[in-house]
Amino acid sequence: MSLAFEVFGVGPKPIPGSVPGFEEAVGQATWPPSTSTLIWDEDGGLLVDCLITEQEGRELAAWVKSRGCEPGFVYITHPHADHFLGLPEVLAAFPEARPVALAESIPAMEEQISPGYMQVWGGFFPGQLTGRPVAPAPLAGTTIPVGGSAATVIPVGTTDTGHSSVVHVPVLSLVVSGDAVYNQTHMWLQGSTPDSRASWMRALDAVAALGARTIIAGHRNPQAPDDDARRQLGECRRYIADFEEALERSSSPAELVDRMMGAYPDLANPYTLWVAAYDLLGTRT
Ligand SMILES: [Zn+2]
Repeated sequence: MSLAFEVFGVGPKPIPGSVPGFEEAVGQATWPPSTSTLIWDEDGGLLVDCLITEQEGRELAAWVKSRGCEPGFVYITHPHADHFLGLPEVLAAFPEARPVALAESIPAMEEQISPGYMQVWGGFFPGQLTGRPVAPAPLAGTTIPVGGSAATVIPVGTTDTGHSSVVHVPVLSLVVSGDAVYNQTHMWLQGSTPDSRASWMRALDAVAALGARTIIAGHRNPQAPDDDARRQLGECRRYIADFEEALERSSSPAELVDRMMGAYPDLANPYTLWVAAYDLLGTRT
């Protein structure tokens, strides 16, 4: 068997909403659809990111097993707990697997699993999260062996959080992007600034420069037509630019939401947009 990859995706999950008017206007608040990607051959594998709830971690581990793969490494792309709270369940199924991440991202990962943050995450997913979260260990260098091949980790700086990275597998013309690229899903811009949005644009340029045909986004709309790299990069650039312009022209969160929903009526997880709008423009109506 030559090197292959496959994606394990989960749909949007209900969460308690805290943005005024969202439920009346749209419905149940949700966490975005998310993915985990397995790259493997007969000699071993690499699992990239591992979801958030205990149940997702268990289902992911069972799915990896069903592929006949014993992953040697689990790589976490960036310090957001929704990409690595499933790690204990994965490691329980694959005790030999080594969880790794960019060394500079690890302090923020440890912060994500501190008692204070776990309480915040537990508020979104009551009773569904591990009680024994683990942070990955620092990856030495930027190369991860994947069976008989190798993947390269590319640090891309701040995207929707600091110390983000993507995984490039040249032989598959594949990038597993974490949160650097979203696939037809509202992009997480809560707490963003002109600088962080400019940094995210540069990260998209860095991903584009890899020239991969396929990007597996950490947040992928189950209805997305494909994983085409060029389409997703173009759509993400346009989304950030449109958000920047809509933010400039809006004096209330409702205005910003209206402008963006007018331009992007079909993206997954509109709650993400509402959260950003109310964060950046206060609660003015
Ligand atoms: Zn994420």
